[in-house]
Amino acid sequence: MSGPNKAIYVLLSGGVDSSVAFHYMSKKHSPIYAVPIFVDRRTPGYSTQRAYDRELEASKAVLDQLKNTEPISQLQIPMKWYGVAKEKMKDILPYGRNSLLLSAAASFAAIDMRLRDFRGEGIISGGFTKDDGADCSTEFLRYFREAVVSGLNPDILPERRLTLEGPFSEWTKSEIVRYAGNENLDQLLLMAWSCYEALPNGLHCGKCSGCIKRKAAFKKAGIKDVTYAN
Ligand SMILES: [Zn+2]
Repeated sequence: MSGPNKAIYVLLSGGVDSSVAFHYMSKKHSPIYAVPIFVDRRTPGYSTQRAYDRELEASKAVLDQLKNTEPISQLQIPMKWYGVAKEKMKDILPYGRNSLLLSAAASFAAIDMRLRDFRGEGIISGGFTKDDGADCSTEFLRYFREAVVSGLNPDILPERRLTLEGPFSEWTKSEIVRYAGNENLDQLLLMAWSCYEALPNGLHCGKCSGCIKRKAAFKKAGIKDVTYAN
């Protein structure tokens, strides 16, 4: 099959959605480069180190399952305001986070393609799902793609251009888990980390909102999950 050279730049958190998205995008595009982008959200003075360690460890384990990927690139995006809020309100969400993460990923990808002298199409992606807030929606991703096309591509054309795909923006988490099961990604699902508590025993707590969503998705998809402490 012939077509333009492609590179994919996938935001990877070590969780189920982004890990399966990496597989999906690699299979769909057969890219020349498959670059995992991990966001380092550690903020000095806040207890973010343990989650960082666990998510990075899970991301590396997931990439071992996927093979043929470039080494992880880490982007540091301190989100102190979120850390401050989370200490006051445990369940608060990082509203609008993807506008930050995608902006950083787009700038990184454009520069990375230039450094590699890659000529073709770079595709930014991630595990944006229907269940995960307005900044995962198909509408938001469409506007963001237009922002990349107008605010970045004129600087890198004609040898290269960037676009954005959110393959799961109309999928629920259980649909993602079911797809992964059908693709025989059972080991990857077990490696993926969903817990916000990052307990020292290496197991999911089973109680935080990340664990509750994971449990419901696996149950609905009919896939057994053995990663819980209780
Ligand atoms: Zn948990």
